[in-house]
Amino acid sequence: MSANQWEYREPAEATSAVAEARASHVLRPLPDHWTPTIIQAGALFILIFQSVYLLFDMPTASPAAMWLHVANLGLAMFGFVMSLFPFGRIHGRAIALVGLCSLIANMTAIAILTGNNDWFYASIAFLTMGAAAMMPWEISWQTALNGAAFASVLVQSHFVADQSSILHWLIVALSLGISQTATMIGQGYRGQVEDARIDAFAASKAKSEFLSSMSHEIRTPMNAVLGMADLLLETETSLEQRRYLNVMVANGNSLLELINGILDLARIESGRLQIEKSEFDLTDLIDNTISTFGVGAHTKGLELIARIAPGVPERLVGDPLRLRQILINLIGNAVKFTEQGEVVLEIGRDSGSKETAGLCFSVSDTGIGIAPDKLNSIFSSFTQADSSTTRQYGGTGLGLAIARRLVDLMDGRIWVESEPGRGSKFSFTVRFGVAARVISPSAQVVPSLAGHRVLIVDDNHINRLIAREMIADCGAEVTEADSGKEALQALRGAMEAQRPYKIVLLDMRMPGMDGLEVAGRIRDEKLPIEPLVLMLSSDDFKPQLTRVKELGLDAYLMKPLTRKGLFEAINRVLNDANRNSADALPIRSAPAVSRDASVPKSTDPAMTKILVADDSPDNRLLIAAYLRREPYYLDFAEDGKVAFEKFVAHRYDMIFMDVQMPQLDGLSATRMIRQWEKSHARNQTPVIALSAAALEEDVRRSLEAGCDLHISKPVKKRVLLETIRNLARLRPIDKSPLPVSAPENELATDPNALS
Ligand code: ADP
Repeated sequence: MSANQWEYREPAEATSAVAEARASHVLRPLPDHWTPTIIQAGALFILIFQSVYLLFDMPTASPAAMWLHVANLGLAMFGFVMSLFPFGRIHGRAIALVGLCSLIANMTAIAILTGNNDWFYASIAFLTMGAAAMMPWEISWQTALNGAAFASVLVQSHFVADQSSILHWLIVALSLGISQTATMIGQGYRGQVEDARIDAFAASKAKSEFLSSMSHEIRTPMNAVLGMADLLLETETSLEQRRYLNVMVANGNSLLELINGILDLARIESGRLQIEKSEFDLTDLIDNTISTFGVGAHTKGLELIARIAPGVPERLVGDPLRLRQILINLIGNAVKFTEQGEVVLEIGRDSGSKETAGLCFSVSDTGIGIAPDKLNSIFSSFTQADSSTTRQYGGTGLGLAIARRLVDLMDGRIWVESEPGRGSKFSFTVRFGVAARVISPSAQVVPSLAGHRVLIVDDNHINRLIAREMIADCGAEVTEADSGKEALQALRGAMEAQRPYKIVLLDMRMPGMDGLEVAGRIRDEKLPIEPLVLMLSSDDFKPQLTRVKELGLDAYLMKPLTRKGLFEAINRVLNDANRNSADALPIRSAPAVSRDASVPKSTDPAMTKILVADDSPDNRLLIAAYLRREPYYLDFAEDGKVAFEKFVAHRYDMIFMDVQMPQLDGLSATRMIRQWEKSHARNQTPVIALSAAALEEDVRRSLEAGCDLHISKPVKKRVLLETIRNLARLRPIDKSPLPVSAPENELATDPNALS
């Protein structure tokens, strides 16, 4: 892969629109190159003046002094001519400096030769003023410095020179004039840059405001479209209708993905996206991230593997959300563009970084790869390696552009190595702080296997390596077998040597003898001390439940293997006295999903009263439809004013408040509600802001207005139900009479009831 390697390197300032605008103005040569030109013109004038003086006043001056003078005259002329060309700022200033130096050298030489110190002092004054003109200071500072230089020449001349000398006064006046002019021109130029910067900020702000409102406008109707499609899918539909609906939902979701991508990009480019600094546990973050791809990868029959190299600090300080976003994009792409083989996430120290927390993340796959001439462009917005990519794999071409910018923001770099047809490896480095070690949740469950032997059976060597590293942390002695046959031999050998294995970690899918068969054979061996068998599989265990029960497996783990999942499983099987009972199953590493749809009795959901304030009849209908089968009492308000009036008149357990509404918007209504609660010494009713605006500032604004939660539209049914259930659990039951309003079932079936 090393042949086709491309690394993204871009100057940091080019990452934001503002910096780009500034760069283009700074490099514009026109106003800047007049500064050295004027200095040079002044210098030339003085030199010519000097020549005349020397010719008439000092006919006896030594030839050396004359030659020196002529040479300097030539140098100054050269500087003057050069300064007429439109060079950039740096060149212009360098030329000015050359001219100034030549002038000072000339004056000093003449001062030495003629014994007139005025020349020397004037040259010092020139040096000070010239340097002042070149410094990017405020004009007042430079003027002060010019003034000081002028005063110093006056003082010097008072002591050493003939004060009435016209030449002396001319030089002083001229030098001040030149320096001050140069200063003012430089200042004007800097003013232009500042104006350009302000313009760029304003343009960038306007752009991101436009994007945010555009996203709002699109999200609101999408909320209704996707929600209704979801609801239709819950009804009885023909196969053909289902197919159409699925296409509708899939396309709606990719439109939302696109909007989210554009919003992220806009936020980064306008400099609004801040990289947080918070403590997090790297193992937990990797476990959670990788688990989200488990099902997708395994449906395609891919091995999904994550490995954190030994020595990588566990507790880090950085932005876990952004790190997760980058990883999700890279792993998502790897899974998407790979049909067979494996996707491996590896985390190690960044060899280029001396710091302990410089980490290198790499995601490699055995997928379609990328053509060498596309390696560069895929990191740009809306660019895909192949024009057929969208058709075949979907996607927006924004993911890598966002990942690249996020890595930049975290002071890292990102690069890719790839070979078409063989796979790709995306790597990035990020620097984190190291937090003091605390007892992390995963550390608490490390099982103690000291003195025990563990056999790992897997045909994939990276899987074996990862399992070995995890189990070695428990103090066990680990042996590896790459096939069922080898595993059975190892078990027999261990029995004969009277060093039996305590645990066998068995991969389900192996060529030749699969995991279930190996487990069956192990049971058939009737070993005097039977090992605990942990099955590791990519597939859902349910279809094989009978077989699993028959074999009496001790635990069943879903891939990808995570440290937490493995440790929990080992702890469970070790502690489980009755390990053959079906209760021991299943133990899964995937995050637990609550399947308990019922609300605990104590909260009595029938009494949960919900007020929904939304000006869109479609959205009110949608929420009513979502909650149609739920035992909640629903009431509606079509704007913030009605919502507040209803709130004052009745009691609700929670309020869903649309943010943008006519008459009185949601945030103002919430503020009034909080005010009213305060003045009536009432407990706070949870207010959940519902908004199509999804930026962090929007969330902050909602919370500042007194909302307890902010949910971005489109609202998913699952999110809505979970939010209500969670809040209902926390709420004391309010026994006050129900508001007189249309019950939700009517609302759900009769849309007119809403308007
Ligand atoms: P998207 O995946 O949404 O199209 P990305 O910015 O994430 O956008 O990726 C840009 C392009 O880079 C993809 O369209 C694809 O052509 C190429 N690409 C990214 N990751 C991979 C990968 N792992 N294997 C092959 N091609 C890839």
